[in-house]
Amino acid sequence: MGSFNDFAIVCQALGQTQSRLQIVALAADFLAALGPEEAPAAARFMVGRTLPQGAEKPLNISGRAIWKIVAEIAGAADQGEEIFAAATDFGEAIEMALRLRPDDPEPTLTIAEVARRCAEIAAFEGRNSRRLKLDALRDLFTRASALEGKYLTKILIGEMRHGLSEGLMLEAIARMAARPIAEIRRLNMLEGDLGRVVERLRAATPIADAAPPSAGAPEATEARRSPAIIRNADRAAETVTAASEAPRPLRPMLAQPAANVAEAFRILNGALALEHKLDGARVQIHSGPFGVRLWSRRLNEITPSLPEVVETIGRLEGRRAILDGEVIAIDPAGRPLAFQDVMRRFGRVHDVARMRMERPVRLFVFDLIGLDGELLIDAPYERRYAALAELADRAGLGRAGRILPASVAEGDRFYARAIADGYEGVMAKSLASPYMPGARGRGWLKIKHARTLDLAIVAAEWGYGRRHGWLSNYHLAARDPARGGFVEVGKTFKGLTDEDFREMTEKLLALKLEERGGVVAVRPEIVVEVAYSDIQRSPQYDGGMALRFARIVGIRTDKHADEADTIDAVAAAFDRQTLKPLAAP
Ligand code: AMP
Repeated sequence: MGSFNDFAIVCQALGQTQSRLQIVALAADFLAALGPEEAPAAARFMVGRTLPQGAEKPLNISGRAIWKIVAEIAGAADQGEEIFAAATDFGEAIEMALRLRPDDPEPTLTIAEVARRCAEIAAFEGRNSRRLKLDALRDLFTRASALEGKYLTKILIGEMRHGLSEGLMLEAIARMAARPIAEIRRLNMLEGDLGRVVERLRAATPIADAAPPSAGAPEATEARRSPAIIRNADRAAETVTAASEAPRPLRPMLAQPAANVAEAFRILNGALALEHKLDGARVQIHSGPFGVRLWSRRLNEITPSLPEVVETIGRLEGRRAILDGEVIAIDPAGRPLAFQDVMRRFGRVHDVARMRMERPVRLFVFDLIGLDGELLIDAPYERRYAALAELADRAGLGRAGRILPASVAEGDRFYARAIADGYEGVMAKSLASPYMPGARGRGWLKIKHARTLDLAIVAAEWGYGRRHGWLSNYHLAARDPARGGFVEVGKTFKGLTDEDFREMTEKLLALKLEERGGVVAVRPEIVVEVAYSDIQRSPQYDGGMALRFARIVGIRTDKHADEADTIDAVAAAFDRQTLKPLAAP
């Protein structure tokens, strides 16, 4: 049994290690020594995830709730201020508080148990769910040693801060299974969850020759790979090349921004298609003998919410296919409605029939990821699209409008018409590009008309006047992939309705990390689409840039914070507005 204490010790050691190689080796050793029922959870925990990606319901535990429980258990309520001033992060503050207990409990938690409790906490429903969640959490923290409490907290709030990114975890898994990293990355693309990758590689074979965890011993760098792990890895590698029987969603391919059609031509060497960019919500559709199943961009299953899409795909009569597309809401005259309207349909399980009448949706497909049991992700876009067109046209499925432009001028005309017709912009797609699940490569470029950015909310201020009692001024931040974390680029309280403020306040409080002078710092999980007039240089912001006249135009519940726009995208938008348009030749 993998003890949670060993897990905490390894995390501690990871935090003290600078070397990437050692980090990978430590994590690989630890996973290899765990049983197949615990290694998947440990892999998720190590990168700060409690549940499998795409889990139906999130845990919804706030930092504030954790602090309240721990302060009560440890009698630390009066010492909060000193503790937070002394601690380097929230996890450490919890550890310090737990150390105020007269005795540190003997560690008895196991990794499997923590994983099970997390799943239970997420699943609580109904009127008493809040109380049940807090009771379960209190039980876990009461039993946890101070060190265990520190890492339990870090997992729950998703901030490990020990330098083990998803990328390094994939390297650790590759080392554990003695497989090439490329194969593990591919498996991760297909599975969309680190735990499931480990599960696949480890299957349910007992590992007879596994060594006990070499926790806390950075010098133990030789991964202990058992023959059983290697056998399972072989099997996993074989099976992922064929599309598996039970439908499992793949991560959707993502797009990078491009300034205009001319830039897309340059990047893609002129070999591209242009498609309308529909302002709706992404949907991945699996059809087969099992029926029709739908997943959102975040890999939540949404089949029951969109019966009209299920019916449309029913026209494939059970033919095996995996389609990628966009769903938009339409008004009674068939005109597209705003993004927010389609999001109201996603994930809804009550009143589906009524909502279907009020806000019907329409599906447009733009890619074919699998057909007749075969994955097409390695086929070039051009070939996938030919198969898609044939399939869609035979079944009468709508396709996003598209051209194969012979020149920049032709592309520009398509773009201008698209904007005039109310599309959000166009997508430029490399004809030769494979489908890269989860990747934001150069195969797909998005050319958007509006000046909007998708930004994460990292803090919020209590409102006054009409907005009294609501968190209403939001600090907006772009992702900083180079240094990790987020960089603030502006603030706004504009664009939301009273109802939105109320909902947003609740959501933000659940993500609260700390509060100082009326500013509530939150875990960056909520992404909003922000329109602005222009970007200015600003010494007040760390990134040196600030959005002017920022206004929220949509709450992107379909996006994770790690899909927010980057600080580089903000800088590129800044450069674009300062560059003079090129003179015509
Ligand atoms: P963004 O959300 O701005 O990163 O843009 C990418 C999103 O545009 C995708 O995730 C899709 O939901 C959406 N989209 C709309 N039309 C298309 C299209 N023709 N091809 C690919 N994605 C599209």
